[in-house]
Amino acid sequence: MAAELRTHRGNVRRENEDAAFMDARRGVFAVADGMGGHQAGEVASRIAVDAVRRMARSGEPAGIAPMTRAVRAAHEEIVAHAQAHPECAGMGTTLTAMWYAGGRFVYIAHVGDSRIYRLRDGRLQQITQDHSLVEELVLAGLITREEARVHPRRNIITRALGTEGDNAPDMLAADVRPGDVWLLCTDGLSSMVDDVRISRALLALPPERAADELVRLALSAGGRDNVTVIVATLDGEGEPWNRD
Ligand code: CA
Repeated sequence: MAAELRTHRGNVRRENEDAAFMDARRGVFAVADGMGGHQAGEVASRIAVDAVRRMARSGEPAGIAPMTRAVRAAHEEIVAHAQAHPECAGMGTTLTAMWYAGGRFVYIAHVGDSRIYRLRDGRLQQITQDHSLVEELVLAGLITREEARVHPRRNIITRALGTEGDNAPDMLAADVRPGDVWLLCTDGLSSMVDDVRISRALLALPPERAADELVRLALSAGGRDNVTVIVATLDGEGEPWNRD
């Protein structure tokens, strides 16, 4: 297992409201993209990532149930913090977390528009589905994926932790094969850098240098948002591979 995490404030924002966590030994990875004024976004994303950190260190076996509990705890803590700190009212965060404990599957919990991609056989596939206005427009056939990436309202998300609206996580299991490269990122990467350039970096470079390159690409494209990336290769110890 090789994994690298990078986060950068970008060229424009004064704060970095992204948060991220990685424990490569336990196979737990998470990114969160906070929102809210007066640095509240930073608080929300940090609370979310800390809930994942506690889950990783709890000693529980990997699975959907402990991840669901961690996401629920994150949501409730953000709500409670906002109630106790009026300056944080309205804060929220995305949370996209991945847990791999060997074997054929990785478990994923996902709320908002941060993303998980998997590079396999040279092809980049987005594993999570964005909870965003533009994703709904794409699914309705009203705009294309490429239009969505540069759409003026691409920042509007339809699910977030800490908010009263829809905050239910997508819980999924994705299959793992040797040679796959996994990428978790906030929209500071995916809205600045297209899939072709992302996959080129992941194909050409080992995780450490790919992580640097992805941040560099986001900054050189303008760096209008905070950018966070985790690049990981998961080795499939413990079980034979069932190739189909
Ligand atoms: Ca963002």
